[in-house]
Amino acid sequence: MAIERRTFLKGMGSLAAAASVNTLAFGQQQKISVGVVGGGIVGASIALHLAKAGAQVTLFEKTAPAAGATSKSFAWINAFTSDPHYRALRLKSINAYQELDRQLNLNIIWGGAIHWAINLAEAERMKASAAEFDQAGYDARMITPEELAALAPNVRLGPFDAALFSPLDGHMDPVDVTRKMLDAARDRGATIVHPCEVTVLRFKGDRLSGVSTTAGDYSLDRLVIAGGVDTPALAAQAGYTPPLTHAPGILIHTKPTTALVGRVIESPHIYFKQHRDGRIIGTDEAYAPDLPAHQGILEGPQEMPEEIRAMHGERILGKIKDKLPGATDAAYDHLTLGFRPMPQDRLPIVGASPGNSDVYIAVMHSGVTLAAIMGHYISHEIMQDDLIDELAPYRPDRF
Ligand SMILES: Cc1cc2nc3c(=O)[nH]c(=O)nc-3n(C[C@H](O)[C@H](O)[C@H](O)COP(=O)(O)OP(=O)(O)OC[C@H]3O[C@@H](n4cnc5c(N)ncnc54)[C@H](O)[C@@H]3O)c2cc1C
Repeated sequence: MAIERRTFLKGMGSLAAAASVNTLAFGQQQKISVGVVGGGIVGASIALHLAKAGAQVTLFEKTAPAAGATSKSFAWINAFTSDPHYRALRLKSINAYQELDRQLNLNIIWGGAIHWAINLAEAERMKASAAEFDQAGYDARMITPEELAALAPNVRLGPFDAALFSPLDGHMDPVDVTRKMLDAARDRGATIVHPCEVTVLRFKGDRLSGVSTTAGDYSLDRLVIAGGVDTPALAAQAGYTPPLTHAPGILIHTKPTTALVGRVIESPHIYFKQHRDGRIIGTDEAYAPDLPAHQGILEGPQEMPEEIRAMHGERILGKIKDKLPGATDAAYDHLTLGFRPMPQDRLPIVGASPGNSDVYIAVMHSGVTLAAIMGHYISHEIMQDDLIDELAPYRPDRF
């Protein structure tokens, strides 16, 4: 009977039309079994929301929780984008995080972010964005020099032409938040397996039957692939290769130092933030500049020798100290090189694989910002007889 119902629903052409409970003979009920590939922040949030919704969840992580892009992320939660639809989605995620933070004590720092411009053209762009954002319900207000100085008392501002404050923004320790989400998923019955790499997707006819992993075989009804930059290789087995571009980025992490700043600081030459324990995280370039020395790193994932890390670390730390004179004692700890799971059009890719509707793809940049709302929406789509209209622009088949 379970098979008949599922076959019928599949005939309707919708993964979202799957039931969350398979009905067995004699009225017994069995939870739908959903595998999640990837223990980054996106996979962790999906696993948590699926477990809350009553699925039997198994999350597979090939190395350790948050080991991928998540631990190398600046982890600023914000809704900055010129695309109104995408901005609304990000705003919803900010709201969803506020709720999750209350429930799970995620320790997010809700201090907002400040930005300033040092030339008139940039200042005009900033004012136009502020007006547009404000109309859309994303509080991003122009502030006076006095207000800026009061919001960032320990920051050396220098001359500037305009400044903006986005008070709804937050930032987090992404490794800590991912672990808390995984703990909460486990508390609701999810199984988290690591180190465990999913190597083969197994099918019976046109239905998923499970996966083979480095820790054995698992039977599954559905699979969500949230494997970051590794998603295309695995999703190809379900007939779909999400188009990602290569997007490396470095961040310096200091040892804990005096508490100096409670918000994200985005100055024209450097951006940084400080965790509650005093560690400062920052960088001076969002993406690797196109220089001859960077050709290897711009072409594909590559290791970075320790002396190059230390060189960039000291260079960036110097810029942070210039803006934050009270941080003279801040010492370099380490530098991370991360590879963003960046879809070709920079927008999230979420939805059933066009090649097999039992396999769901979830790959995105800004995954730290989006994880809260995506976990909620994706679990809803898998567990309920529903597709969420708001996700329509982000479907895998748009390319
Ligand atoms: C320098 C930098 C700065 C960033 N700044 C921000 C920011 O300020 N705000 C923001 O919102 N976003 C930011 N991002 C982007 C954000 O970090 C990512 O979008 C997000 O971490 C993606 O999370 P994820 O869980 O999808 O992927 P990942 O964290 O990469 O997790 C994927 C996991 O899947 C595992 N995996 C892969 N294949 C398999 C397999 N076959 N079997 C088992 N496990 C597998 C990997 O080991 C990995 O742990 C930044 C990224 C970088 C690199």
